[in-house]
Amino acid sequence: MRKSTRVFYLASGSAIVLISLYGFLLLRARPGIPASLRGREVLRIDGVGIHTIRDFGFALSGKRIGDEADFDLRSAGKTETVRARLAAYYSQTSFPFIFFLIGVFGFLIGGSVLLLKPEDPRARIFFWAAFCFSASLIINGDYYCVRDKGASMVPGVLFNFAYPMVAAFFLAFSLTFSRRPVRRSALILYLPAATLGALLNITFLGSVLRSSQALFILQQRIFVLFRWSFLAYVITAAAALVVSLKRAEGKGEKARIQWLLYGLVVGLGPFALFYQFPLALGSGPLLSEELTGVFFLAVPAAFAISIVRHRLMDIELVINRSVVYALLTILTASIYLVSIELLQSALARAGPAAGRVAAVAAAVLSAAAFHPLRKRVQDVVDRAFFRQRSDYRKAVLAFAEAAQRTSDPESLAGLFMARVIAAVPLDRAGVAVFRITGESKKLILSRGLETEPPPAGLKVEQGWILARKNALAAREQAGRVRESLPASSRFEVAVPLPFSSTLLEGFVALGRKRSEERYREDDLDLFMTLADDLALNLERMELRDQVILERASREKADELNRLKTEFISSVSHELRNPISSIQGLSEMLESGAIADERKREGLLHLLASECGRLSRFLHNVLDFGKIEQGARTYLPRRTSLRALIEDVAKLSGCGSGGEGAIIRTVFPEEPVFLNIDADAVKQALMNLVDNAIKYSPEQKEIDIELVDAGGNVEVRVRDRGIGITAEDRGRIFDAFYRSPRAAAAHAGGVGLGLGIVRHIMEGHGGTVRLESVPGRGSVFSLVFPKP
Ligand code: ADP
Repeated sequence: MRKSTRVFYLASGSAIVLISLYGFLLLRARPGIPASLRGREVLRIDGVGIHTIRDFGFALSGKRIGDEADFDLRSAGKTETVRARLAAYYSQTSFPFIFFLIGVFGFLIGGSVLLLKPEDPRARIFFWAAFCFSASLIINGDYYCVRDKGASMVPGVLFNFAYPMVAAFFLAFSLTFSRRPVRRSALILYLPAATLGALLNITFLGSVLRSSQALFILQQRIFVLFRWSFLAYVITAAAALVVSLKRAEGKGEKARIQWLLYGLVVGLGPFALFYQFPLALGSGPLLSEELTGVFFLAVPAAFAISIVRHRLMDIELVINRSVVYALLTILTASIYLVSIELLQSALARAGPAAGRVAAVAAAVLSAAAFHPLRKRVQDVVDRAFFRQRSDYRKAVLAFAEAAQRTSDPESLAGLFMARVIAAVPLDRAGVAVFRITGESKKLILSRGLETEPPPAGLKVEQGWILARKNALAAREQAGRVRESLPASSRFEVAVPLPFSSTLLEGFVALGRKRSEERYREDDLDLFMTLADDLALNLERMELRDQVILERASREKADELNRLKTEFISSVSHELRNPISSIQGLSEMLESGAIADERKREGLLHLLASECGRLSRFLHNVLDFGKIEQGARTYLPRRTSLRALIEDVAKLSGCGSGGEGAIIRTVFPEEPVFLNIDADAVKQALMNLVDNAIKYSPEQKEIDIELVDAGGNVEVRVRDRGIGITAEDRGRIFDAFYRSPRAAAAHAGGVGLGLGIVRHIMEGHGGTVRLESVPGRGSVFSLVFPKP
């Protein structure tokens, strides 16, 4: 919409609303003849002759409640003049208020349609129709509002113009449904109504400004013309709709036009037939204007249904629930007031004394009917307007979409609960899923069911919904519901999750509706659709997990094979080295070529340490076998740790690879004794020191420190070697694992040492701690808890 057009609509729309409100205020203060004179024949008021009912309007215009006026009355053939104070015209009736409410309803619908479809020509026509309709309804009459010759005439002017135009706009609107659009002739269509409006206003203003009854009488004549035109417009509009209805294609279009027709016939029909038509003929109305006017309510109501339910003008509304309830309250308040009016007049007719009693009784009776009525209307509106149509559809779509992006069952269940709780809305929801293995049933997912119903105990068979007694509106029970959910349950229904796999079973449980209504068919449909989706996605996740698991175990088997092959080659390497040096050394010694006693001793020492290394290696391999079979046991004995560490320091550092290694030891002043398997711990420490030497290619400086700190005794082995990356830290204790860097730095090694160290420490209730900076060195600590 162009800016100027928008400003135009905004300005004229608000002007119409404001003038209507002003007119309503004036109307509320409309003066009427005092109660004492009611029922008597009035000939003149302040000299203005009274011939028809409408003459009162003119005679009293410009006056206020409480003003005095001279009434010429005739009774029993005699005339008398009485001076009396004017009373409030509407003291007894709430009709202006009813019309006001209907009018507000009209404004809201007209305004919303224009806001939603500002570009649609049909929406624009509808806007004008609705605004003219509401303005004429709220202002209610031209002369009624006049208090002086100033601003109080404005509502009357709007009324005189809007009233004829309503019918024209309705006709134009009806014609938009015909197959051949009638745009060009549109002006001709408005012309009679606009002319009548102008004439009514000229005579209205003239009669008021000049206080001319002659002009008023002329205005009344034009008003009769207008009545005829009104009938003609409404009948043509209805006929046009009937024709369009016949030609309409598709269920939607038919339903749309049907509702418009209902609105027109039910809303304007009684008014046109029982009020306008007799008046146009010059006789009295068959029903009062007020009474026929009540049917106007059908106009905005039917139009609203057509728009919202049947997507009139392609408006797909996702109406905020509070807006609908606000409208609903207006609607029911109007119905309430009308019913009071009707009851009151019916009861009053029953007996003359019933006057006051009637008013009270009517109020009580209507109030009694009000609550069920409101509930009923609310129910109808709920069905018609939005729940299942938009909220439910939205919830299903949103869930399906979000479920695609969700990767774990927990969040999926959470998503389900959030969606269903918000859509209905509910006070709670829950999900339970079980995995069936043979006879047993294991709960693998449970959300929102913390306390009850006991998930494992509740069996929801496929195809059946479990419900608490009275949880469902009566006629929704058919066929698929069993009322077997315990009365104590905080859930109203449980719906099975329709898994296609027989390995899964589950249900969703739904709590109370916040609106405190019972469940209806569409609620159950929503639950089942969402449950379908939930089940489908849960199965998808289950399948994916299985595939991942299979792939992982296959990869693990491959890895194990690779490690085994590596192990065999490392073992042969590990054996070949010491064996060939033992062989060389012993041959050398045997040949007698080494004469120097000290040299021979050195060689013998080397021979011994090579044998030691070989035996340690074999020990590790054998131990690994024992550990794998769970046969490795430890025999604790009181042992001095200092002695143990000193032994290890002496043993290592010699032999091939150990040349040039410096091993330093640090001990606390107090001796430290522990109950340990000395051989095993020595083996563990030996492994650490061997590694420290192996993985320190250049600076082979090793510190072994005994620390007696707090609740632990620690033996720390520090090196300044290649260090261990964060990535490797989690794997180096695995059997056969060797980091590629380590394998490059030192060919020897089979990847069993650290695994054995860990096993030994665990066998002593302790742990192995590792701190390391890659490239700078590592500290392995054997941590023993103190007894
Ligand atoms: P091996 O030394 O026979 O390979 P281990 O089980 O003793 O087997 O050690 C496993 C791996 O841990 C080694 O391959 C190496 O990658 C790493 N590692 C052990 N100790 C050290 C250390 N002091 N410095 C750097 N890396 C080490």
